[in-house]
Amino acid sequence: MASSVAGPRAPQTVADIPPTLTGAVLDWYEICARDLPWRDRRVSPWAVLVSEIMLQQTPVNRVLPVWHAWLDRWPTAPALAAEPAGEAVRMWGRLGYPRRALRLHQTATAVTELHGGRIPDELDQLLKLPGVGTYTARAVAAFAFRQRHAVIDVNVRRFVGRAVSGRDDQRTTTSRRDLELVESLLPDDPQTAARASAAFMELGALVCIARTPRCDACPVRQKCAWLRMGSPPADGPSRRPQGYAGTDRQVRGRLLAVLRESDGPVHQDSLDAVWDEPAQRNRALGGLVDDGLAVMVAPGVYALPGDPAIGD
Ligand code: SF4
Repeated sequence: MASSVAGPRAPQTVADIPPTLTGAVLDWYEICARDLPWRDRRVSPWAVLVSEIMLQQTPVNRVLPVWHAWLDRWPTAPALAAEPAGEAVRMWGRLGYPRRALRLHQTATAVTELHGGRIPDELDQLLKLPGVGTYTARAVAAFAFRQRHAVIDVNVRRFVGRAVSGRDDQRTTTSRRDLELVESLLPDDPQTAARASAAFMELGALVCIARTPRCDACPVRQKCAWLRMGSPPADGPSRRPQGYAGTDRQVRGRLLAVLRESDGPVHQDSLDAVWDEPAQRNRALGGLVDDGLAVMVAPGVYALPGDPAIGD
């Protein structure tokens, strides 16, 4: 009779997690972390919040110049709140997903009206701000106020999934269990925990990358559950990068660029010139209006929200 052979198993409980995993990542971070301006201890919580919203869905190298320009112009939340939302959309430039500019403006307005212009330091208060979700609230509490919170983005989820759970995690959502697991990896000291949160994120962004993790350069390769289990493939279908050319997103981007680059309202003719297909163009323009990124100020005339109307 053939005997069954037990293969390597993934850790099942917090007690199974190698205790020095976080320490190894912290040591690596000390040496290998990128020198990013929003990590400077002297930057304000507002600057950290702006970086967190810009970095969602956008690479660091594209965020850097816009982040600097944004904070030069609006060094505080009240400075942004004092201007029309359309100026935020204009300043957002080509970062993509421009609804984030409106969200930042809404956040700045709420911070100004409800908190005297200061970003609140309590997680509950951060979560109540418009445009601030679970990830952003936790990231600001950890990185701006050095508090101990699990901060989980796609990089952290992937790293912890592989290193601790032995799974190639392709999910895009964060569960209560994820939060508990990541929190269990954080040191007790809040300052060190905040640093560990940044370190997990950095390792996921630079080493434990999606397609071909750089395990040879990884500080936890000796402890990694995924490697120990033979690098099993991801469950379910792999996520393919979304195309851009020819999509409504591309059309929206072109229409918004016309509005952004104009000092005031533009006539429909100028918008029609950037995309040939009328049905798709109208759908994209309607989407911009529905999202509050553009307004129709007169029949066939459009502007960014808050731009001076014709004749002003
Ligand atoms: S050893 Fe490889 S798979 Fe494991 S955490 Fe490091 S980079 Fe990721």
